[in-house]
Amino acid sequence: MTRSRFLILPLLLLVVPLLGGWKFLSPPRAWDITDTGPGGTWPIEFHAGDVVPQGLDTHEEKWDLIQQSYDHWGEEVPCSPIEAVQGADINNSTQGFGASGLTTLTFNDPTNALGSSTLAAALSYTSNGVVTNNGVTFAAIAESHIVFNDWVVWGDAADISAASCFNRHDFMSTTTHEIGHTIGLGHSCEDGEACSDPLLRGATMYWSGGSCSSAKRIPNEDDAAAINVAYGVSIDFEIEPADGQELVGPAPLTASMDVPSEYQATVVEYEWNFGDGTEHIITTTAESVEHTWEEEGQYTVTLSILGEDAECGGEYEAEERKVGVVLVCNEPRPAFEFVNEGDFTVQIENVSDLGAFGCITDFVWILDGDEDSALRTYEPTYVFDDNSSHTVTLRASGPGGETEITQTIDPTKQSGEGCSASVAGTEPVGLLALLIGMMGLVPLARRRR
Ligand SMILES: [Zn+2]
Repeated sequence: MTRSRFLILPLLLLVVPLLGGWKFLSPPRAWDITDTGPGGTWPIEFHAGDVVPQGLDTHEEKWDLIQQSYDHWGEEVPCSPIEAVQGADINNSTQGFGASGLTTLTFNDPTNALGSSTLAAALSYTSNGVVTNNGVTFAAIAESHIVFNDWVVWGDAADISAASCFNRHDFMSTTTHEIGHTIGLGHSCEDGEACSDPLLRGATMYWSGGSCSSAKRIPNEDDAAAINVAYGVSIDFEIEPADGQELVGPAPLTASMDVPSEYQATVVEYEWNFGDGTEHIITTTAESVEHTWEEEGQYTVTLSILGEDAECGGEYEAEERKVGVVLVCNEPRPAFEFVNEGDFTVQIENVSDLGAFGCITDFVWILDGDEDSALRTYEPTYVFDDNSSHTVTLRASGPGGETEITQTIDPTKQSGEGCSASVAGTEPVGLLALLIGMMGLVPLARRRR
């Protein structure tokens, strides 16, 4: 008769994180940059409420900062055609998100549309028109609205960088972010989303902005990539695993990479970086390239291009990354130790080599060969009703296969004292491990939790 106690399973049983970059709003929408002339929507003509936002000094400063914020999306993003021109003052108190027919920015949240934790928010309205660029179909934006909240004290560059700055928000950073929404961009990462990539955290379209900071005023490469898909030249590629393989699997793992034809028009050079330290492949045509990853690890594939396009002022560069998209796993290397805590209680310590993140997706503990009462946990504690010995099997599985290790545990002894270990793998190499196990050695493992 045995009882078991569970410990909370650490965040081990996770799927491979496939971090995306920039996002579009959903459903996708963009301005039609060909819709020029009388009655057209391009360039964007913006109108601003007839008050001075709290913390700014003059109307002129307000207009100037808004214009510069629009210009960031045109001038700081290579190959971007984004353009906006100043319209007129509008009655601030009657506008907000309810305004119609004009693209507007209003202040102090005249219709109380915003929650108290929001600095500002943006909306865009679409017409029936459709814009297609770089293989993506967008609804055409006809007008947009930005509303700034009433409790916020804004500042310009000097106010925000001053040593005395306290709880003031950079008007231009927030405006640039909200304009990003009105031209079709979503957040680079959302609140609560795992976001370890510094490029995404540093994007103007990152979900949050701190006070006394102008760090995200200028769109970065991640923001620029989104703009170029919606409005300019861009690059993308596809990764296809070799026949019978997946992009997540045992080593060696082979895949081929292709650039779809809609991205090839102005490219003169392609450079592939496979993320594993091997030599880059450079081609002058969009021919498919193949690569084999030999070592365990999670890999990011990057395609850098050199292009020639008159609208980009001649030569331009662009880059597309697929972050962590290839996961190569060796066979799992499970290992455990046990601690006799007295009173027939044995605490198991899982010292398996976790390898690359995502390479072990499941741990199963089997006591005395009884599969029916197997435990799926990281580290069990066993409480026995007498001092007789038992066998404990740890089965680890993941994309690289499945491996088992079995030890005999004696509730009166500590780990390493007269225990025996055996290992069985899914591949012939398991035999070597089995021989080592028969010699009474526990396979070496590093502890990493
Ligand atoms: Zn936002």
